[in-house]
Amino acid sequence: MQRLITAREVLAGPVGQRIKDGAVLIDGDTITAAGPREEIERAADDDALRSDHPRHAILPGLINCHVHLAFNCGQHVVDELRATDDSALLLGMAGRAQQALASGVTTVRDLGDRDGLVFQVRAAVERGELLGPRILAAGPPLTPPLGHCWFLGGEVDGPEAIRERIRRNAALGADVIKVMASGGSLTPESVSMREEQFGVAELKLIVREARDAGLPVAAHAHGSDSIAAATEAGVDTIEHCTWMRTGGEGHDRRDDVARAMVERGVRACVATPAKWREFMQVIGPASARNVVQRLRWMDDLGVPLITGTDAGVSHRSGFGDFVEALELYEHVGFPLERIIELATTGSATGIGQGDRIGRIAPGYAADLLVVEGDPLSDLAALREIRLVLTAGRVVPLP
Ligand SMILES: [Zn+2]
Repeated sequence: MQRLITAREVLAGPVGQRIKDGAVLIDGDTITAAGPREEIERAADDDALRSDHPRHAILPGLINCHVHLAFNCGQHVVDELRATDDSALLLGMAGRAQQALASGVTTVRDLGDRDGLVFQVRAAVERGELLGPRILAAGPPLTPPLGHCWFLGGEVDGPEAIRERIRRNAALGADVIKVMASGGSLTPESVSMREEQFGVAELKLIVREARDAGLPVAAHAHGSDSIAAATEAGVDTIEHCTWMRTGGEGHDRRDDVARAMVERGVRACVATPAKWREFMQVIGPASARNVVQRLRWMDDLGVPLITGTDAGVSHRSGFGDFVEALELYEHVGFPLERIIELATTGSATGIGQGDRIGRIAPGYAADLLVVEGDPLSDLAALREIRLVLTAGRVVPLP
């Protein structure tokens, strides 16, 4: 059965691709046509299921490129995770996936769960038993013994263990290999966020093994040395990309490394918490300035960006507040149309899914939103969701 959706405007995804008085035609899980309303109406079957939205915009579903379904957005996520058995954890992960979907996020990229449970959630969505977002997942992230997030099950010690872990993650069905290139704040027992956990040689090995398995690499990196090493190794995305000075204080934004990222097509996902205003108060004025300045600086140099929030890891980053995270880009000075492009087409391309999701165009997955109002004049319109489709299925809204 075909579905015909008309609206005041269709935002196809890329900046400048807008269709006033437009429509989208869907067959099953795929968009078959998009364009001016009258033209699409003519192309539709007489019995197509029709919905009209005259004060609304249709846009591609939003993409959160950095989440952790296994973390519960609590005050003590690590302790809570470790106190949760697998079956309870699976139910929590399914619930958080559904929460993301209801907020308009039709694709999440999970960059680290416990022991690969996320692949069961993904499989339930793919079987149609769980109405969830499209899930791309890493499984257990590679980290040194007792390194950052070691309790997720991805500890590796030496080249053979690295190869073995990547093979196992690939066999579990990983869509991406995640490596904790620097320390992180969740694991006080690991090295500091500013320091490297893996050298260039190990990161190169990880990239090579991942490529052999046909997979991209996402590297968690806060310190400048780890960002430089990950870039040299040729990873696909750098997560956080905080540019903390390694072995010192403050920040160290290196133009030469950022230029190398541009040349190699290494993308940055700053993964700032959705409640970034509150987060900026906690980290203090100097780090708060860096949150804004590094985004502007990377963008000015042409570093490709993708959107993500590290959802799950704290109470400041939930699964239902992605629009709040996008408001950071508005605060930094990005035009609204560009922000929507980043969160749809740009992120889809950045995670290797640019031919499947992130656009309203024939042949693309029927993952879309209908929102009331005009998100190009006020991003808050993205909260006025009237319809969400995931692979052509209607999502019940709260
Ligand atoms: Zn993360």
